Amino acid sequence: MTSNNPLKQYFRQPAIYIRLPSKGNFYPPGTLDMPPNGEIPVLPMTAIDEISYRTPDALFNGAAMVDVIQSCVPNIKNAWAIPAVDVDTILVGIRLASHGHDLDSSSQCPSCNHDHEFTIDLRMLLDAVNTPDYNSCVRHGDLEFYFRPMTYQDLNANNQLQFEQQKIMSMIPDTEVPETDKIKNINDALKRLTSITVQALCQSIGAVKTPQAIVTEPEFILELMNNCDRKVFTSVRDHIIDLKNQAELQPVSLKCPECQHEYKQNVTLDMTSFFESAS
Ligand SMILES: [Zn+2]
Repeated sequence: MTSNNPLKQYFRQPAIYIRLPSKGNFYPPGTLDMPPNGEIPVLPMTAIDEISYRTPDALFNGAAMVDVIQSCVPNIKNAWAIPAVDVDTILVGIRLASHGHDLDSSSQCPSCNHDHEFTIDLRMLLDAVNTPDYNSCVRHGDLEFYFRPMTYQDLNANNQLQFEQQKIMSMIPDTEVPETDKIKNINDALKRLTSITVQALCQSIGAVKTPQAIVTEPEFILELMNNCDRKVFTSVRDHIIDLKNQAELQPVSLKCPECQHEYKQNVTLDMTSFFESAS
């Protein structure tokens, strides 16, 4: 960008400012330029951003999101390093900055199955985002587990691995192999899925403390998780799920226009349509 361009004043300007659930913690040095007031400016998408996230392959491998985030949130220098807890907030912020605060969605009433449309106010979603408590630890005897969010890069890689294994599993029943082989293949795929899950849990463990040592090496932590007591494993897993839930977008309250039933609807960001213009 040239600084003497007389057209510079017509370039896009920040449309909104967001607060990150991580409060800027867990970013490796140099990956986030945190303003003193903690409010991160978000620019609307350019035409090029709109084109890049529409490329299905780029969307699938996460590269498109990384480009769009770095373009719209220039304070983030490396979007792969974003802690997973911040991703939804950043994406909602970009959508808000680009297309305004109304997001149309649809829902099926759990009581009468009536499908109805509703509009989410994205500002309310952002206001309701929580900062998970990463200071809490899990104790088992003299073992202490400390946690951190996984990165966007880990999150994305895990999702791809999971997707691939599930695809393999779904194709097994139609393959031309004997039934016993099919069962073996399904078992193998299940084992790989489990190991992806354990790996993902380890990416959320920052350190394990014993009276003698503080262990941060991922390979040692992975080995512990593969060999520890089931009780230890379960409480660590539940704690990680709890932290993840705390950071998630809060469900919206809806009332069915047909039967007046009131219920909560989870909000999920469907990336293929999320950034489409509201018009
Ligand atoms: Zn209903």
